[in-house]
Amino acid sequence: MPELPEVETTKRGICSALLGHRVLNAVVRERRLRWPIAANFEATVSGRTVRSVERRAKYIVIGFDDGSLILHLGMSGSLRLIKPGTLPRTHDHWDLEMDSGWVLRFHDPRRFGSLHWTEGEPSEHPLLVKLAPEPLSDAFDADYLYRATRKRSVAIKQLLMNSAVVVGVGNIYASEALFHAGVAPRRVARRITKMEAAKLVKAVKQVLAAAIKIGGTTLRDYVDPEGSPGYFRQKLFVYERAGSACRVCKSTVKQFAQGQRSTYWCSTCQR
Ligand SMILES: [Zn+2]
Repeated sequence: MPELPEVETTKRGICSALLGHRVLNAVVRERRLRWPIAANFEATVSGRTVRSVERRAKYIVIGFDDGSLILHLGMSGSLRLIKPGTLPRTHDHWDLEMDSGWVLRFHDPRRFGSLHWTEGEPSEHPLLVKLAPEPLSDAFDADYLYRATRKRSVAIKQLLMNSAVVVGVGNIYASEALFHAGVAPRRVARRITKMEAAKLVKAVKQVLAAAIKIGGTTLRDYVDPEGSPGYFRQKLFVYERAGSACRVCKSTVKQFAQGQRSTYWCSTCQR
């Protein structure tokens, strides 16, 4: 599943082909995504000029003068920039042909992705209005996380992955951040100290920023819009390293199931 760093990398990769450029033509080959693409989508976006390309959580928001496209990659979606006339492959569901000489093409085998047009303020759209703070924003700080953990008896890892607390911290990043902060994944959230909350916030930001810097990614077959594979996997300390030696203390990295996901950790480095 594309995680926040892949979405951010995708946003950065498509930005220059879109920004300041006009949509010449829109093509939809499959309307049945997570929600159906509106029947007037092609007519609505054609002729309009892109004024902004932003990310909110795992949504990419493409802003025009008087409306915005809100799109989500779902479980298996990807965007790429191709030259006009490139034949669509199976699961290439829609295209935006730009006057920059690029076509933005959406590919999604499982069709959990989505595409919405809104004329209102995108942050007020039902999909975005209730989203918690961005992990890389100043709003996600030690005080915020400390307050969010009070009275919560859930495990700290599950709290970090709760998008009502902070958006975009997936399984890999939660596991890695807990390792770097030295906090055991099963710790009860309300028992986290203020200092641990500060360490966790710092670790979440560092792990995500490092993944973005390196260009993604969590998916083995992930390719950024310029066609180069992501290499984030090589930098992981605990995720999918069960049975291997901890890179810090040489103890064996452990694994257990937590909320139907695999958690990886070092019982020596994390307390
Ligand atoms: Zn260790």
